[in-house]
Amino acid sequence: MSALLQVSQITAWYGASQALFGVDLEIGEGEVVALLGRNGMGKTTTIRTICRMLAHTEGAISFAGHDLARLPSHKVARLGVGLVPEGRRCFANLTVRENLIAAARPGEWGLSEVDRLFPTLGQRANQMASTLSGGEQQMLAIGRALMTNPKLLILDEATEGLAPVVRHEIWRAIHALKNAGLSILLVDKTLKELLAVANRCVVLEKGTTAWTGEPGGLTAEISDRYLGV
Ligand code: ATP
Repeated sequence: MSALLQVSQITAWYGASQALFGVDLEIGEGEVVALLGRNGMGKTTTIRTICRMLAHTEGAISFAGHDLARLPSHKVARLGVGLVPEGRRCFANLTVRENLIAAARPGEWGLSEVDRLFPTLGQRANQMASTLSGGEQQMLAIGRALMTNPKLLILDEATEGLAPVVRHEIWRAIHALKNAGLSILLVDKTLKELLAVANRCVVLEKGTTAWTGEPGGLTAEISDRYLGV
């Protein structure tokens, strides 16, 4: 069976500065993949490259039978890549409900499914997004991505800066999405929770794939060498 997402030897530049030097990454249907690596190793840049948000990249990106490598980012989204970016961007001047509706595309995920996943969003349906807490904004950002009915959900820094009780809520939701069969690419700094949900890990070191394997194979030596833990 071919992978849902297959990324081969991608490279990326910010102006004259090269950030990725050959990243390989694969995500199977229903698989949760954790993208790991110390600060600045290229996790966010890999995500931006997959989502076609950078002007200068090379390498092969195949997603659900489509070649993404030359497509504009809105077409990547339309093919089923749902991104929850770092900083969880929502429309501040729209209500929670309006934010969700603005993202909607046909499929199994609609308002009631998002409300069931995050009851808080249902309770805050008519509140402006700008008045939400950081955790509620992250729930809304995930809800917006789900409303697009993605084949692959990408979460960059899923729980960064959130209070412990809200982090717990986000991890619960990610487990629920995994159990529902969604394919997920995840970046987060809390290794314990990340490894508990991931089927596989991809470790980046200086813009290349340094190691890939199941969480159980992530030995102390590998963690020490590539993650500094
Ligand atoms: P972090 O956990 O700190 O977000 P990361 O693994 O996501 O790290 P990236 O943000 O992808 O790493 O950064 C990879 C490299 O690209 C770093 O050397 C970084 O300084 C550089 N970089 C990232 N964003 C930009 C940018 N907008 N302009 C120039 N260089 C950038």
